[in-house]
Amino acid sequence: MDPRQCPVCGTLNTTDLIDIVEMPIYCNRLWDSRDKALAAPKGRIRLRACKKCGHVFNSAFDPSLLDYDQQYENSLHFSSRFQRYAKQLAQRLVQDYDLHDKDVIDIGCGKGDFLALLCELGQNRGLGFDPSYENNRVNHNAASRFTVINDYFSERYHHYPADLICCRHVLEHIQHPQAFLQSVRRTIGKRLGCIVFFEVPDVFYTVKDMGIWDLIYEHCGYFSMMSLFHLFRACGFDVLDLQSSFQGQFLCIDAKPDVAAGIAADPGDEEMMDFHEYTCAFTNKYQEKINYWETELGFLGQNSRKTVIWGGGSKGVTFLNVLKNSKYVEYVVDINPHKQGRFVPGTGQKIVPPEFLADFQPEAILIMNANYLEEIKNRTEQLNITPTFMAV
Ligand SMILES: [Zn+2]
Repeated sequence: MDPRQCPVCGTLNTTDLIDIVEMPIYCNRLWDSRDKALAAPKGRIRLRACKKCGHVFNSAFDPSLLDYDQQYENSLHFSSRFQRYAKQLAQRLVQDYDLHDKDVIDIGCGKGDFLALLCELGQNRGLGFDPSYENNRVNHNAASRFTVINDYFSERYHHYPADLICCRHVLEHIQHPQAFLQSVRRTIGKRLGCIVFFEVPDVFYTVKDMGIWDLIYEHCGYFSMMSLFHLFRACGFDVLDLQSSFQGQFLCIDAKPDVAAGIAADPGDEEMMDFHEYTCAFTNKYQEKINYWETELGFLGQNSRKTVIWGGGSKGVTFLNVLKNSKYVEYVVDINPHKQGRFVPGTGQKIVPPEFLADFQPEAILIMNANYLEEIKNRTEQLNITPTFMAV
């Protein structure tokens, strides 16, 4: 397949956005020595935008580099804000589609948290699929209500009943989303009452709101409302609802199987004009943001200011890896004890607990998530340090 070809609509009418030559392929995998962290496997992110359907994709993506085994940890689920959001979403699905005493399938169910919610709220029976699932990690009241198969979902599981098939934060990891969704459609067959719910990150958060520290190798596809709609229509689904969620960071689509063969509608002109406008400006805005932080970090380094980053999640890992001057960042602070003592892939900074800063006395703290600024300031006051804070 031509790397310029859009994986959603198949056109070659796509254009280059940015090229990040080396990024660790697993942004959430930390290493137990600096040497191993520096030698972490890397891949290339070469983003292209589709002018026909409004999709963005990594044209240099190589799926053979990735293996989602049990070491994969999706850090989103630890955030209380994300958990509140997930609960509201599960309530909405149970209510809208009257999911009571029904069968629910969750493709890429992770640790089973969302499946457990759906089962609890509607007294439903659940079946999850996830190759990274660990049996001993589940601690839900509803655990007896659901089963997880330690495998990728495929048509060999077509005989399992399903009133709802949900699939959250999976599609953006799949290089050929058409083939995947067509296979889901074939699995449903003539069960036309089956509802399908998918959730993905919204590309507008990246290209319009410049959420560039969220670019990671694992995400090979970045959907817009237009490309998501196009994909579902082309794969034989009727779109019931399509909306932005989680403060513009995600897209949610509700669909049901269509009896007619897949016909993709062309996206509306207005939406495509917005998409063109943002993607055309993106390359320059991306470079400006990179230049700004190279200069800031360069200044800190050349003046021997002791600098740390607060936040060892994927944003921090991306930030450190795309900036050459990140060599001036000495440590990464994180409150998660599972991360402390380990090393950042690609750049090798050690992850330390907040208490470490009392001795280290940093002069600048870069904060990867401004939502936590107050919390971090309180913590540093207790540690008797008075650094400069910089929200990234
Ligand atoms: Zn396209």
